[in-house]
Amino acid sequence: MKSYDYLIVGAGFFGSVFARQAKDRGKRVLVIDKRSHIGGNAYTENICGINVHKYGAHIFHTSSKKVWEFVNRFAEFNRYTHQITANYHGEFYNLPFNMNTFCELWEIKTPEEAIKKINEQKFNGEPKNLEEQALSLVGMDIYEKLIKHYTEKQWGKKATELPAFIIKRLPLRFTFDNCYYNDSYQGIPIGGYTSIFEKMLNGIEVRLNIDYLKNREELNSLADKVIFTGSIDEFFGYSLGTLEYRSLRFETEVLDCENFQGCAVMNYTDRETPFTRIIEHKHFECSCNAKTLITREYSADWKAGDEAYYPINDEKNDGLHKRYSELAKTLGNVVFGGRLGMYRYYDMDDVIEEALKAADFLI
Ligand code: UDP
Repeated sequence: MKSYDYLIVGAGFFGSVFARQAKDRGKRVLVIDKRSHIGGNAYTENICGINVHKYGAHIFHTSSKKVWEFVNRFAEFNRYTHQITANYHGEFYNLPFNMNTFCELWEIKTPEEAIKKINEQKFNGEPKNLEEQALSLVGMDIYEKLIKHYTEKQWGKKATELPAFIIKRLPLRFTFDNCYYNDSYQGIPIGGYTSIFEKMLNGIEVRLNIDYLKNREELNSLADKVIFTGSIDEFFGYSLGTLEYRSLRFETEVLDCENFQGCAVMNYTDRETPFTRIIEHKHFECSCNAKTLITREYSADWKAGDEAYYPINDEKNDGLHKRYSELAKTLGNVVFGGRLGMYRYYDMDDVIEEALKAADFLI
């Protein structure tokens, strides 16, 4: 008999949720991660009394009561409500697109005037790419100032070459409501994300600094089934080809001032600013601190071996992913999960939901 029922590769949300569910149902579980910490990209680290989102801003939001109740077992959430300020050459606009944005842009006063203004400049027709989708939702003025350059910096591609669904992540409303999400529940875990993972993995064996792909045979011999949350194409040695990803680079700085930008996330939506956004971490949890910590986030090209952050779910990549999924089915004892394993632009709540489903199905 093998030592474990499940070897879980990756201590991010998918792996940790699955591990918790398996452990609670009496399974023998080993979690490994190639990094030196748990939490995947949601990992936060306390620096100078401020919880720093080390791999970019993570704002928890969901409309699933089940997921919300599940994460609340491991953390208390504050009342942080995400809003973004866009900085376009020093002009400030509220995001997502709402009456505040329209008033800032156009000197209009009513929803009717905003709708009229958009209708005068919108794309009519069936949108086939991100640019057409954006133009059909909000028209040219907003597209030029708030979408086109940010998007092209973020993805390293022309907006005409990107799938339409990406821009539909952002709400569009004709009310004075700056909230970035439409979800019923949102917040930041008080004390940071890492403690969620510590609690979720409580009583479960975790080994860090272990690269599954470099020690595959030895690790496979330990468990009946593998839950793999890394990149699916890397798992198969890129044998069918390489899926495309987008990577990120972060520059973090401690500043000797109390409040640098007055909000947690400011997006730089012009073409010239080399970074996409600045995160000022203390605003997620209202940390009282004489200093502040900011992170400039740069979007970066990805090549095999780099840290993958975003899947690029266009037709070509989704087609290749489908072929990898078919290959995965032939293995029998490996389940792929998470943003990288499933190659989907999932938010944290989607990943938790998938992990809960996988645990219900498998265990
Ligand atoms: N987006 C944009 N301008 C912004 C913010 C977002 O055009 O100021 C577009 C961009 O294409 C981005 C997409 O909306 O990739 C999704 O944004 P979201 O904030 O959901 O991205 P994430 O936080 O996942 O990076």
